Amino acid sequence: MKKLVLATNNLDKVAEIKELLQDLPVEILTLQEYPDLIMPEEDQPTFAGNAAKKAEAVSHHSGEVALADDSGLEVDALEGRPGVWSARYAGKDGDAAANNRLLLEELKPVPPEKRSARFKCAIAAALPGRKTEIVEGSCPGKIAESPRGQDGFGYDPLFIYEPVGLTFAQMSRDKKNKVSHRGKALHAARKMLGRLI
Ligand code: IMP
Repeated sequence: MKKLVLATNNLDKVAEIKELLQDLPVEILTLQEYPDLIMPEEDQPTFAGNAAKKAEAVSHHSGEVALADDSGLEVDALEGRPGVWSARYAGKDGDAAANNRLLLEELKPVPPEKRSARFKCAIAAALPGRKTEIVEGSCPGKIAESPRGQDGFGYDPLFIYEPVGLTFAQMSRDKKNKVSHRGKALHAARKMLGRLI
């Protein structure tokens, strides 16, 4: 059976991807099987560039097909920031509370009708000796003036999904995954992998 290595250490992502790909004839491995692999820096200007860089590093090291993702939030009033810096916006990697505080601070003078934003996700599949393929998904929304909701992670309490008027942190995981940037990109990735494997 073909092997597919997921280029992430995030167990939530691993679980979500495994569930979505369960009917594909692949054995899914994670980075735990490759303790010697040093992941490259996410220093590209686009989500697609970072996803491709990670997938190619893992595929090169393992000799297997590798899947990597990169995602983040683009806010129009901030010319697309935090973008590829979403996880490290306030400085420390993954400090969601500090990132959300900084985002609210920067958007203080911006009225509700000008707080449009979108989450984006790029997923890259790299195969030894073949051109890397990339799919993307995005989800439009608006940045709230204060956090709402308890669920989710990252910028979820500030991201209003307008068709239901709730933030992602007020929606169940299932409902969010159906409309989210990552959900859309994963569905496209499933089709891409079906072709590649
Ligand atoms: P990464 O793709 O794991 O590198 O995620 C980048 C960062 O983007 C995360 O740390 C979050 O701050 C933000 N982000 C990406 N997707 C979501 C989401 O679905 N909800 C909230 N924040 C997100």
